[in-house]
Amino acid sequence: MRTLTKPAELEEIEQSIDLILTIDEITSLIEPIGISALSTRKQEWLDEIINYHNEMSQNKRLSHNGRVDFSKFKVQLEWIYNNPSVRRKTDFIKKIRDCYVNNGILCPYCGVSPCRTLDHYYNKALLPQFSFLPANLIPCCGDCNKDKGIKKSFGKWKRIINPYYDNYDSLLPDEPPIVIIFKENPFPNVDMSFVVIANNKLTSIVRKHINFHLKKIRIGLLHQEMISNSFWRNAKQLRLYKTLHNSNQISVQAYDTLIDNLITKNSNINYDWEYIIRFSLFKIKINHWIYNSTLDKLQ
Ligand SMILES: [Zn+2]
Repeated sequence: MRTLTKPAELEEIEQSIDLILTIDEITSLIEPIGISALSTRKQEWLDEIINYHNEMSQNKRLSHNGRVDFSKFKVQLEWIYNNPSVRRKTDFIKKIRDCYVNNGILCPYCGVSPCRTLDHYYNKALLPQFSFLPANLIPCCGDCNKDKGIKKSFGKWKRIINPYYDNYDSLLPDEPPIVIIFKENPFPNVDMSFVVIANNKLTSIVRKHINFHLKKIRIGLLHQEMISNSFWRNAKQLRLYKTLHNSNQISVQAYDTLIDNLITKNSNINYDWEYIIRFSLFKIKINHWIYNSTLDKLQ
């Protein structure tokens, strides 16, 4: 869950794409064998592309029912995706990938590694008609592309996030879509455990998507060190403010100002752990054990 940063040159690439022309070119050629049979189904194909945009914008997912069956052409369409060419007017596939890779844009799924590849949000073997549709091509790192597997986009409830179509508008501007629940751990040498989950202010379906995503991409594990470091630093800071406040060493107004400054508003959806952790520690009651804990690291 990281906002996908679009490199500046992407706009020019996108403007140069004309899928009607691309489909004309593809179906006019004899290679790969069998592709020319699609020349009688061009309108159907273009309608599917329009439907993709409409359904994704409205429902954030494609319906299973009524999908045009292009599975007969999956080998040919996969070949076309794997062999971008100027002649077929599919060179935009390579250009899109290169512009994310060359600009070192971070993977929107995990937020850790740079983009290396394009993920077919809807798998190209199951829905080959979208095998080179730019809206279905999500730049991501190699690990996320490998982990995602085939069916993880199709479920109504169980699907990973989509950086092109998902939004978290139901949250207030200062509420992050993900929060962390920390648990004081009584075992020696462990001190604390945590779980990263969707903010419960989101609608239940969006929460399900985020939680499914966080689990599939193993966010807690990937970001463990960053989360842990940030936790101890911020928990200590909050305890200090609380102590000053409780012992009347600072005024209520001063305390509020300190807290406001700590929880700076941040409307992006990136894994901004400092912000997410401060928000989680202060706003989520279950995390308030940090104020009374006897853990050495919090003293
Ligand atoms: Zn990734």
